[in-house]
Amino acid sequence: MVSTLREYKRKRDFNKTPEPLPKIRRDTKKHIFVIQEHHASHLHYDFRLEMGGVLKSWAVPKGPSLDPAIKRLAALTEDHPLDYATFEGIIPEGYGAGTVIVWDTGTYENSSEKNGKPLSMAEAFKKGHIKFVLHGKKLKGGFALIRFYNNNKNWLLIKLDDEYADAHKDLVTTQTRSVLSRKTINGLDRKFKR
Ligand code: MN
Repeated sequence: MVSTLREYKRKRDFNKTPEPLPKIRRDTKKHIFVIQEHHASHLHYDFRLEMGGVLKSWAVPKGPSLDPAIKRLAALTEDHPLDYATFEGIIPEGYGAGTVIVWDTGTYENSSEKNGKPLSMAEAFKKGHIKFVLHGKKLKGGFALIRFYNNNKNWLLIKLDDEYADAHKDLVTTQTRSVLSRKTINGLDRKFKR
């Protein structure tokens, strides 16, 4: 899998934004995931999975659902540096302008397979069908990301049916605080200086 932060770098002016610099890191032991609530021109949830030294990233307009019957659109966006996983703050005018909080984070295990044989994350990404188990503060258990047929950018985020599946619980609207700062997106008004 080609990991690149070229697009991440091209879109941002690091003299102006407090977002992390575009650095690729390798060989981390535990693989992390993060979901960032991002009030930009539209509210969305950025779902990021560590793969190949960067965070593979999808923008999920409605956020994750715990109901296996619900498929949430997840648009693939540019790779982000691993340092982005702890980023909260205000992105000034320019690309992605708006407020970001860390809605959930933790580690994940790859559970991707084909015909009962395990697939690496890189293989699963290429195939367009990734399965993983989240160990987050809010989200737990199995999820899948499945790419639309014939479309590189559009994927679906789906909760897999397990003991953490719940058709009646909506964490996006009931658990709105950052798992890092306990702030809500509306309560975040820190000013950043690099
Ligand atoms: Mn975003």
